[in-house]
Amino acid sequence: MVLALACEAGGGDGPDIRGEYVDLYLGEGIEVCGRQVQAYDRFVEEAHAVYGGELPVGFQAALHASDSDEDLPCDGLAGCARGGSAWFSNMRGAYHELVHTLQSDIDGDSLRSLKEGTAQALGPPFAVAFDAEQVAAFSQAPLFSTTLDRENYDMLAVYSRFLLERYGPARYRAFFRAMSDASADIEATYRERFAATFDEPFDDAWAAFIAEPRCAYDFWYCSDDSTTLVELPFELDGLDCDDPLATGFDVPSQDPKDASFAREKLFAFDLASAATVAFEFEYVSVDLARCGDCSQQTPTAGLSALPAEAPTIVELELGAGRHSMIVRDRPGGAPLLRVYPVE
Ligand SMILES: [Zn+2]
Repeated sequence: MVLALACEAGGGDGPDIRGEYVDLYLGEGIEVCGRQVQAYDRFVEEAHAVYGGELPVGFQAALHASDSDEDLPCDGLAGCARGGSAWFSNMRGAYHELVHTLQSDIDGDSLRSLKEGTAQALGPPFAVAFDAEQVAAFSQAPLFSTTLDRENYDMLAVYSRFLLERYGPARYRAFFRAMSDASADIEATYRERFAATFDEPFDDAWAAFIAEPRCAYDFWYCSDDSTTLVELPFELDGLDCDDPLATGFDVPSQDPKDASFAREKLFAFDLASAATVAFEFEYVSVDLARCGDCSQQTPTAGLSALPAEAPTIVELELGAGRHSMIVRDRPGGAPLLRVYPVE
């Protein structure tokens, strides 16, 4: 049975909410909105379908939300996962951490670049896409590194997606497991086991990888059931945590500068042809992404402002196709968002 009541508040020892595959533990004062737990459940199903076929029987991740990094067992980071448990102090990282719990459950440990690449490929915090020019400039060095910067994650994400699609999940996972004990000369081991697992030299695969635009998977923000398809002109009608389609969290005490948790709602609209679209907004942030394959996806356009008085207006040239808007409230005033084509 799925128990996901709107705006459940944190406290106590057991999970605050039990979903189908995710137990959610909420830090003091954090409330979860309408559909978020079901959205995590659907995400687990979709991520696993891409990565590993049928879900392991009894899979249940323990997901801990906290509004302070100091409460997390993550060495000062805003999120981490160990075995079937994950922690996050920024809700954007929750999908990434959920992938770690899945991967750890079915394949164990591996090289850091493969773990982070997989998590970011399937559960990016926002749209991750690179055009042909950016891809051609990628460096191989992060693949063989055990000390990754946050800036490396997105390249590793699109590389992991490339491997998953070029060789299929079964061989990708075999390579992941084959790299679990690489330690001395990582690059040499990587190249040797890559060729043995995929029947292709690493350099040939790399040349194919950097020859085309690449992207991460878009399913949590482009195909979840909580997405509301709207027509332009569009005007946001509030962002209530108890709206059955709302996702995200409510943290009344949070610092206005720190939007690590927010009430959130997903929308999408279709454009029949390229157009200039105006976004007029106040007390919200909007992550705008284009859904589709890697020739269609574009990097996230992040719109955010905390104006004192007048709404901000931004005009963007958008291509034809489906565009996703992840809309989150910002503290300090009533959320306002109008989206309309510019004649
Ligand atoms: Zn990670």
